[in-house]
Amino acid sequence: MGYFQREKMTNQVTRILCPGDVYVYLVEGSRSAALIDTGFGVGSLRQYVESLTDLPVTVLLTHGHLDHAGGAGEFEEVYLNYKDLELARQHTSIAVRSAGFCEGKNVHSSFEFVPPKPVEEYLPLTDGQRFELGGMTVTMLELPGHTPGSMCVLLEELRTMLLGDACNSLGFLQLPGSLSVAEYGRAMKEFAKHEEQFDTTWYSHPHNFGGKEIIQETIQLCDEIVSGVRCGIPYGTSDTGKCVLIAREVDENEHPKDGKTANFIYSPSNELR
Ligand SMILES: [Zn+2]
Repeated sequence: MGYFQREKMTNQVTRILCPGDVYVYLVEGSRSAALIDTGFGVGSLRQYVESLTDLPVTVLLTHGHLDHAGGAGEFEEVYLNYKDLELARQHTSIAVRSAGFCEGKNVHSSFEFVPPKPVEEYLPLTDGQRFELGGMTVTMLELPGHTPGSMCVLLEELRTMLLGDACNSLGFLQLPGSLSVAEYGRAMKEFAKHEEQFDTTWYSHPHNFGGKEIIQETIQLCDEIVSGVRCGIPYGTSDTGKCVLIAREVDENEHPKDGKTANFIYSPSNELR
């Protein structure tokens, strides 16, 4: 062990920091538990989770990226939105996870990666799907943009929404497979119908921040970009060498300079589809 650190968010929710700066959430009801995401799959998250709870654990993935679905292979019952199935297949191979995990760090890939989960073993996750854990209801809500099958997680009794990578202070829409800003804006407006159901927002990476205002701020950003009122600022190039833009100018900590919380990086080439 030693790969994981935990923090109690409430009596029923433990946030676990996994290698690679990614959070997963263990949500415990009276009958069963849900594990939201699985990290890169470095070290045994399953052993760690079993040291925290005796309840049966169902895994719910927010999306198919390597740092969220990477550890799924250790668990039997794993749900994923099938719109991310092909992405999960590509992203969870040990070669891709190892390259992604070590990228930009001066480390060797001597870490222990758990085997990937065969894609045919994933169970389907759909918009509005509910999991009753006993006194704790987890509802999965679709918010495509970052990936086609991105899901947010509503913890109904706690009035808390895990926005994950789907909407945050430095969203990534510049990735292969990400939606256009116009498509994302439409999805955000649909998602905003759930705004009355939560007061608190949680994220999947330590650098992300923002409260509930981030929903309307993101919708406004999308509208401004689509209508041409706002022009993105050049923000380097993507992995495929294409120029990418950032919606709001940021400081050295990648926080918006105008004091707002919502922000994202996007690729003008995605807008042309
Ligand atoms: Zn992601």
